[in-house]
Amino acid sequence: MIRLLVATRNAHKTREYRELLGAEFKIDDLSQLPDLGSVDESGASFAENAKLKALSISAKLSGLVMADDSGLEVEALGGAPGIRSARYAGERATDEENIAQLLEQLDPVGEQARQARFRCVIVLAQTGKTLGIFQGTVDGTITSSPRGCGGFGYDPVFVPHEYRETFAELSAEVKNTISHRARAAAALKRHFRASGQMTTVRRPQP
Ligand code: IMP
Repeated sequence: MIRLLVATRNAHKTREYRELLGAEFKIDDLSQLPDLGSVDESGASFAENAKLKALSISAKLSGLVMADDSGLEVEALGGAPGIRSARYAGERATDEENIAQLLEQLDPVGEQARQARFRCVIVLAQTGKTLGIFQGTVDGTITSSPRGCGGFGYDPVFVPHEYRETFAELSAEVKNTISHRARAAAALKRHFRASGQMTTVRRPQP
């Protein structure tokens, strides 16, 4: 069993990492550690912000820490909201307010130009040192109004390529197969397997 602290207070991210990493990992997050405070996400990229979080939290603890910085990049908006995804409509904006801001910005844009990409960067660290950086993306389009009630963040307006439903309409199982976070988590798992910290489960031969 690998113990991993996810440097987040976003319960949705923690839930998804528990589902994605599975029974070989014991996942905790910062909800039980209020004294650690919060890290200023002042980096210029997802990777820089994930690194800031992972290094600062892991320097204060002894075990393995991973931080995820993630968000939505919309082509017609020059990559916005990007690293500002969580606070696109203001510092303490709700998911609904961020979605409303996004749809307003995209209002003048035709149905054809709503290409978007979710990006997730995971930084794994221990005692203030980076052990690895893992990335995942998923391409899709932005709808003209929100649909569905699953997931979080921009899920109600993001339709992944080759699907008709938004992430909020698709089941968690489907999102966890194709999402940016699923792809970054798969790369993280490969790292643990390659370093011998995780046993590879082999299917019996027919
Ligand atoms: P972070 O906590 O700074 O990484 O902010 C991530 C923000 O990006 C979230 O608050 C969401 O708005 C958005 N985001 C990241 N991943 C997802 C996802 O899987 N679905 C929907 N929105 C996401």
